[in-house]
This record gives sequence, structure tokens and C-alpha cells, in this order.
Amino acid sequence: MLERVPLLEKDLADYADVAGPEAVERICALAEPLRGARILHLNATAYGGGVAELLATHVPLLRSVGIEAEWQVIHGSDEFFTVTKAVHNALQGADVEWTSDMQRTYLEKVLDNALLLEGTYDFIVVHDPQPVALLTFLHDTAVDTPDMRWIWRCHIDLTDANPEVWEFFRPHVERYDASVWTMPEFVPSSLEMERVVQAPPCIDPLSVKNLDLPAPFVTEICKQYGVDTRRPFVCQVSRFDPWKDPVGVIEAFRVIREKVPDAQLVLAGSMATDDPEGFRVWEQTEEARAGDKDIHLLSNIQQVGNVQINAFQRAADVVLQKSIREGFGLTVSEGLWKGRPVIGGRAGGIALQVRDGLDGYLVDSVEECAHRTIELLEDPATADTMGANGREHVRKNFISTRELEDWLRLFTELQP
Ligand code: UDP
Repeated sequence: MLERVPLLEKDLADYADVAGPEAVERICALAEPLRGARILHLNATAYGGGVAELLATHVPLLRSVGIEAEWQVIHGSDEFFTVTKAVHNALQGADVEWTSDMQRTYLEKVLDNALLLEGTYDFIVVHDPQPVALLTFLHDTAVDTPDMRWIWRCHIDLTDANPEVWEFFRPHVERYDASVWTMPEFVPSSLEMERVVQAPPCIDPLSVKNLDLPAPFVTEICKQYGVDTRRPFVCQVSRFDPWKDPVGVIEAFRVIREKVPDAQLVLAGSMATDDPEGFRVWEQTEEARAGDKDIHLLSNIQQVGNVQINAFQRAADVVLQKSIREGFGLTVSEGLWKGRPVIGGRAGGIALQVRDGLDGYLVDSVEECAHRTIELLEDPATADTMGANGREHVRKNFISTRELEDWLRLFTELQP
């Protein structure tokens, strides 16, 4: 059997205050005909990164409306995750060598996992490329009953995908009954599939990472990590991944400090189990930091968990997400939800969340990132207004109930 991820319980009714009672009613009405449906979400990691973050709320919410939902993770190995990270990079546009050894490593491990998949489901939702070939191995087996439906949820931006790698994956993807994407622009034109759906991810406003925290508690947490909230403070929360450009953030910070000498930077990033690049990028970032005491490089290794992330995003004068490529970037909505302006790289789903000049700014370079940050540090009233705009934008578009509604609609459409 594949590993089942233990879940918290969540109650849809608790979301009425934030999402509005009409949203809760719409969801209940959509869920009623789907009561008892068995839905499995499958991905590569239970911890670290946006997909794990999403499923930790989405699956309990499905359960709270009467659906028998569960979440399982495939098992991997260092070799497998090195290959799948190369695939991830190649699909985001990196120049990666795609050897037959890599293909073999990938397919063998997916086959192992296919043999471990048990049970019968009405819908299986497979996230990202790591497990996507499962269906190829399971086609017409006892798991793949004629009435069941398979959905591939692609969280990454394939606009500039490496053609060789995409052509390897395309036949596996095309076996699915539907695919779900963050933005229509991410879908390769070569994909032949009848049902292609757009449904961007969402944050859970009631999760420990996003719920309101009393100001003295926020100040105290920051203090524990050496951050003085009386001084200007910017932060970026993200995995240590080259596409998130942590070194670029440090370069921008050096420019910021020429104008705002007492500024501080927190770069907080967890190490995900399916991301072997993390330690290398951490080391590069540490090198770029060059012992600077006002740059705080933190991770789960220093016990930075959801409460700490919440406090950093809340206390920051400006939240950064200077990605070069990005699927969605949950951290952007997380920052906006806390009423902070976000300066984001003009990449993928960041542009859905930050309306340039309204909720923060979209930037294309280190210099632009630095100058926009200086502007907001010098004008806290505008920063607060942008943060307030952003919070409302997130409330309307990027909270878990919206995503739940999208998925229930898709399940309804796909029902046999
Ligand atoms: N995250 C975290 N701790 C960290 C770094 C990231 O909890 O040290 C969380 C972050 O708050 C967000 C998710 O991991 O909820 C990252 O999702 P995002 O979509 O921004 O990026 P991904 O990692 O999926 O590329």
C-alpha cells in the first residue's frame, strides 16, 4: 500500500465568516450528489512546498462535505527524486540532459508505486509529473475500473518546457480524462485532451500559517529569531530553489540597504523531501549572505514552522517573492492575506495574485525589486493600502472554498 498522509479534521461551516455563507451553501449543493464518492489525491511529498500545503486543507474539506477523500504519497529514492527534480526544471525551461538511464529510473520507480496502489476509487487526482505515469501502468487493471476518472493536476508552468522531456511525458498525460492548470497559458499547445480546466490554487485562511496572530506574539517570535520589528524588515518564504532566486533577493537587499541602512531580511525556506537541490542552493545562499548579521537565513532545521512563517509574513513591511519561474506561489497570497504588499517576480501565477501597482509590484530584475521595495519602505501608508487591497483580492479569489467549488464542479462534470 502507498503511504497515507494523516489529516486534520476541518469543517466547511467554519469558513462561512471569511468566504460568505453563500459560498458555503453553493458548495453544499454541489457536494450533495457526490456524497460517498471515493477520491484519492496522490503526490510526491507530504511535507514542504505548495502541493502538500494545498492538500492538507483540500482533502479534509472534501471529507467535511461527505466525500470519502484521502491523500497518499508515492515513495521515491534519492535517485528518483534527483531525476524528478531535473524533470521539474526541464519542464520549467531549463536545459537538462534527458538520458535513457534517467527515463529508466523514473519509469521503474513509478511502476513500483503502481503495484502498491490499492483500493477502488471514483476519481484519482495525480499531482505533477512525479507520479503521472502511474496510469500508464494501471490502465485496465483492477484499480482502473471503467467508471473511474483520472485527473492530472499540473502545478508548474510548461510555457517554455524542454521539448524532449515534455514529449516523453505527453503520452502519459494524454491518458487522463482531464487536466487542471493554474493558468491557461501554461498548457502546451501539443496537448491533446478534451477537458482542460483552469483552477488556480488557494490558501487556507484558517490554517495555523494564515490565522490572525496577536501583535505581541508576532513581535516575540521575530525577536526569538533575531529580527527587530521596530526596524524595516522584508522577507521571502520559499524552498531553496534556483527558480525562487534567493541569491537575487540578497543582491536586491544590498541595494535596499544603501538607502535604508537599518533594513533586515529574512529568507525562510523549508527543505522538501522531494527536492534534493535544497542543500546546494542553501549553501549558495549562505555564501551570498557572506556572514551579514541582518540577513537571516532560516529553515525548518531552525524549527521554522507554520507559526513562525505566519509571524514573519505578518511582521514584514514588504513581502518578496522574486521568482524567475513560478507555478502559482502560495506565499504571495499568504503575504497579501496578512495585509502586506507583495513584490513578486513577473512569473506565472504571481501575476494572477499581484495586480501591479494595486497589491504590490511585479518586477523583472534585481534593481527593480530593490527600488520598489525602497519605495514601499519609505511610504508605509501606501504599503498598508496595497496590503489591504491584496487581502480583499485574496479573499475573493484565492481561499480554499473557491478551489473546493472548482473541484466539485469538475467531479460533477466527469461523473459517468
Ligand atoms: N513554506 C513553509 N516553510 C518554508 C518555506 C515554504 O511552510 O520554510 C511553505 C510556504 O508558506 C507555502 C509553500 O511552502 O505555503 C510553498 O508554496 P509555493 O506555491 O509558494 O511554492 P512551491 O514550493 O510549491 O514551489
